[in-house]
Amino acid sequence: MDNSTSTLMSLAQQLVSKKVEVIDLTAPLSSETPVIRLPADRGQPWPFERQVISRYDENGEEVYWNNIRMSEHTGTHFDAPIHWISGKDFTDVSQVPVQQLVAPAVVVDVSDQVDDPDFLLERHHVEAWIEQHGPLPEGGWLLYRSGWDARGENADTFLNDSHTPGVSPECAKWLAEQTPIVGIGVETVGTDAGQAFTFEPQFPVHWYFQGACKYGLTQLKNLAKLPPVGAVLVVAPLPIVGGSGSPCRAFALIES
Ligand code: MN
Repeated sequence: MDNSTSTLMSLAQQLVSKKVEVIDLTAPLSSETPVIRLPADRGQPWPFERQVISRYDENGEEVYWNNIRMSEHTGTHFDAPIHWISGKDFTDVSQVPVQQLVAPAVVVDVSDQVDDPDFLLERHHVEAWIEQHGPLPEGGWLLYRSGWDARGENADTFLNDSHTPGVSPECAKWLAEQTPIVGIGVETVGTDAGQAFTFEPQFPVHWYFQGACKYGLTQLKNLAKLPPVGAVLVVAPLPIVGGSGSPCRAFALIES
C-alpha cells in the first residue's frame, strides 16, 4: 500500500503534525468526582475510592499500585442498552460492537439558552440545528452542550439538588426512535434531567435510548472545543461482562 495515499496513514501523519487534534472529553476520576444522588429508598452508586496495595514500601518495595472501587456509572461513563428495563433484552457493555465506539459526533450547543437549571432540550432546538448544519449523523453521536461542565469541579453545584438540564420526553423519544444517531452525550451527571423522575415516562432519555438499543455518555468536558459538525468521537468503556455500563475515556478528533 502507498502510505501517502492511505486514509489511515494520512490520518496518522495529521495526528503527528497536529493538523488533527485529540480533545479529551473525560472528567478526571477521583474521590471528588461527583456521583448521582438518588432518593434514600433507592440503591446508590459508589463514588470512586482508592486503596493503596503498595507504594515502594513493605508491601512491595519496587511497586506502586492501587485497588479501586466505583460503580459502573461513576464519572464520565457509558450507558449500555441493558442499563434500563426498556433495553433489558439488548446488549450489555461487553457486547457493544466496537465499530460503533468510533463514530462521527455533532455538537448541539444550547448553552446560551440555558437560563434555568431545569432547561430541557426540545425537538425544535435540534430541528433548528439541523436547519443550520444538516442532518444528524448516521451511526453517530449527538453531544448536547448545556454549559454545565463549568460546574464540574464542585459536586454540590454540579448536582445542584437534582436541578440540572436534560431532554424533554418528546424530544428524547424522537431522537431515539426517528433519528439515525447511535447515542447521546451530555455534560451532566446522567443523560436525563435532574428532575426526570417527575417526567412521563420517568427518565425518558434512558427509557427511549436504551429501549432503542442506543447508548448514553455522561459528564463530558471540553465540548466547547468541538465544531458543530466534523468531530470523530472515540469512546472506550471497559468490556465488563454483563455490565450495564462502564466508566470510560472519551476523546474527540478534530481538524485544527
Ligand atoms: Mn449511567
